[in-house]
Amino acid sequence: MKIDLRKIYRFTPMEYVAGSPLPSGGDIYYECTICNGVISSVPRIASACECGNLTGNGGEAVIKEVDKVNPVRGKLK
Ligand SMILES: [Zn+2]
Repeated sequence: MKIDLRKIYRFTPMEYVAGSPLPSGGDIYYECTICNGVISSVPRIASACECGNLTGNGGEAVIKEVDKVNPVRGKLK
């Protein structure tokens, strides 16, 4: 089952210096700049963006291409 997080959350860009470690936390999400998909930075369920750049499960996000990710803060709409 695919959940479109954009329907539930409003995402705002975070200040982030390219090349520094990505922030993570309960209200932080990763936006894939290849396919525009969004997954949690601490995914508790199996998650993946459309192109497979971002995957995760068990509270850990796995990123293939870190320069193709934007950290964003998610707030429930
Ligand atoms: Zn993607």
